[in-house]
This record gives sequence, structure tokens and C-alpha cells, in this order.
Amino acid sequence: MCFKYGAVPHFGMDGYDELVSSLTPRQESDSVTIYQNTVGLACPACEERFDNLILCKDETNTLELDFAMDICTATHDNNPLLFTHKH
Ligand SMILES: [Zn+2]
Repeated sequence: MCFKYGAVPHFGMDGYDELVSSLTPRQESDSVTIYQNTVGLACPACEERFDNLILCKDETNTLELDFAMDICTATHDNNPLLFTHKH
């Protein structure tokens, strides 16, 4: 699932490129790209290590997630970025 929230961290181009270049692409489709955090980067929202970064390119996209997780959100160019934390 993809959310639109109001007050969330926003990435400028520099921070975003740096973030994505540090992550490992795991899955890419027309509507969503998933990156795995293999280097232990901190989530920009809660500052805990996150597991995956999910980029939603299509606001109407829905994700079928089969495991419980916490999700933090940020934005880049008005696109939602979802940072997942496994329980
Ligand atoms: Zn977080």
C-alpha cells in the first residue's frame, strides 16, 4: 500500500541520489521499485535502520505485503518513499 502523508521528510536531489546509490535494487516494475538496505542506513523519519525502500511511481498502486512491518514515509519530487521496518 502506498500512502500520502502531510508532514514527512523531504529529500532534495542530492540526498535522494546518495540514498539510492547506497541501496541494492531488488525489484522493479512500472509502478514500484524496491531497494534493499544492505548497508545499514538509518531511516530519515525515525532514525532506526530500515530494511527496504519502496518507491511508488503510481499513486494508485497497491502492494501485497505478506509480512508485518512498520512503514515510515518521506517524499522526493512529490513521489512517496516508503521505508519499511520488519518486526
Ligand atoms: Zn523509520
